Amino acid sequence: MSDCIFCKIANREVPAEIVWENNDFVAFLDINPVTSGMTLLIPKKHTSSYIFNDENEDMGEIMKASKVVAKMLEKTFKVKRIAVIFEGLEVNHLHVKMFPLKEDSSIKGILNSNYSKPTPEDLHKTALDIIKAKSE
Ligand SMILES: [Zn+2]
Repeated sequence: MSDCIFCKIANREVPAEIVWENNDFVAFLDINPVTSGMTLLIPKKHTSSYIFNDENEDMGEIMKASKVVAKMLEKTFKVKRIAVIFEGLEVNHLHVKMFPLKEDSSIKGILNSNYSKPTPEDLHKTALDIIKAKSE
């Protein structure tokens, strides 16, 4: 869809801190993260954002792609778990919100914390760290 921000990111018409991609999916850092390393994973093809209206095969594919990104985030942020949310709000293009969970952390804890927003330079550095983790 021409007016969809996530389609524009997937098509490289709008810049984003992309950390991973394959033929069908692309992962990039959220510009307003609620925790360090909050990453969005999207299918390159425009799809409605409510995952439970998705075809079963497509649901499987997005979880497999999420696993690849989750392993990169685990390594980068030295965490044991990555939480994911499929709420699909804000942008009507299917997306997985991925949150590195530090020790003793939870989604509730993250959402209630006062995480200060990173600068564009901080985001870029974080993206490079994640990309580096993939190649190590
Ligand atoms: Zn789209």
